[in-house]
Amino acid sequence: MDGIKPTCREVHRLVSEGMDRELSLVERTRMRLHLVVCGACTRFDAQMGLLRRAMRSAPPPPADPGDEAQP
Ligand SMILES: [Zn+2]
Repeated sequence: MDGIKPTCREVHRLVSEGMDRELSLVERTRMRLHLVVCGACTRFDAQMGLLRRAMRSAPPPPADPGDEAQP
């Protein structure tokens, strides 16, 4: 039972998923309720919004953190 209160973790997930798909009304409501009381997630949401705009004008970075990324 996670009730109506989403955790920061869930909100981060919703913000990220919101970039790829349309969130449901319930998901958006829970996210907004949390953003009202959580400054960290509000900033995260704002940053993702900026990223989303930037990604529209530029190709996305390589999303595959392959073997070469680590020494
Ligand atoms: Zn939060």
